[in-house]
Amino acid sequence: MRNVVIIGSGCAGNTAAIYTARANLSPLVVSGHEPGGQLSLTTLVENFPGFPEGVDGPSLVQNMKQQAEKFGAEYLNGTVIEADLSKRPFRLNVDGEWIEAKALIVASGASARWLGLESEQKLIGHGVSSCATCDGFFYRGKQILVVGGGDSAMEEANFLTRFGEKVALVHRRKAFRASKIMVDRTIANPKIDIITPAVVEEVLGVDEGVVTGARLHNVETGETWDRPVDGFFLAIGHIPNTKVFAGQLDLDEEGYIISKGGARTNITGVFHAGDVEDRIYRQAITAAGAGCRAAIEAERLLELEEG
Ligand code: NAP
Repeated sequence: MRNVVIIGSGCAGNTAAIYTARANLSPLVVSGHEPGGQLSLTTLVENFPGFPEGVDGPSLVQNMKQQAEKFGAEYLNGTVIEADLSKRPFRLNVDGEWIEAKALIVASGASARWLGLESEQKLIGHGVSSCATCDGFFYRGKQILVVGGGDSAMEEANFLTRFGEKVALVHRRKAFRASKIMVDRTIANPKIDIITPAVVEEVLGVDEGVVTGARLHNVETGETWDRPVDGFFLAIGHIPNTKVFAGQLDLDEEGYIISKGGARTNITGVFHAGDVEDRIYRQAITAAGAGCRAAIEAERLLELEEG
């Protein structure tokens, strides 16, 4: 039986691993279906404190893992496919093998929703991004496109006008899901071209290895055309990775864990860390902070229970 099992190996999970390992709890990290989390999908990270020249996203997360391993954390490649949180020790089915844990840190993140185009997947990190805060800076003076019609799309399109020469906002319907104030602000922004009702048929640039444009299709008129762009941003929502905990952990209507204060969930001994609970900030540094918080709470609980 494990003292602490951490589900997820992004910034939150790795930080929780560093802290619990240094507390001599020999944590086991279940890496999950996207090892390294969202950072493994980015290139240069310029806003993680301590790296004045920026740091490569996958390297940053790999360094965190090495740091945790140095203190005794173990990593298991696999995904939790079933969980029994009805009593302690908790039981987790990792790809067919059951493991037991006295405490659990759920740091399984929220995956960005993608369009699912092959060209889009090939160009992730090479002009295709799901995080304007992370990558907007690289598109100073460039042509940018944002897909989506919710508050995130509006916020990101407006944010990206700080950098881009022009930002195209492409949404599949004429009506926006976003709040009126965000829509009004977007319409009023002279640097934003609103393109509706339109879908992206293809991200262009696979042969060049970098985004060069997007093939758009107006679903009303039937017109199809190519728009040259350098940065292609998805803002079509995130999907929290909490399916295996449904019915056990309290989740909101979209599947995010509902915090009971600090890193606590509705189940004593189960803690949350990172984007699996945080739908607002979603940053590497906030996820790392949440991982630290969950680790300290897990450590304190076990100390209280076991002396
Ligand atoms: P969201 O509200 O779920 O909006 C997702 C948008 O993406 C929708 O417009 C949807 O189109 C579109 N979409 C989904 N799948 C698509 C697909 N396969 N192809 C093309 N378009 C697709 O997500 P969000 O904007 O990330 O916001 C999430 C939550 O955070 C919301 O509650 C939002 O209010 C909140 N939020 C608030 C703020 C703020 O207040 N400042 C900022 C950001 C987020 P349809 O509309 O056609 O379904």
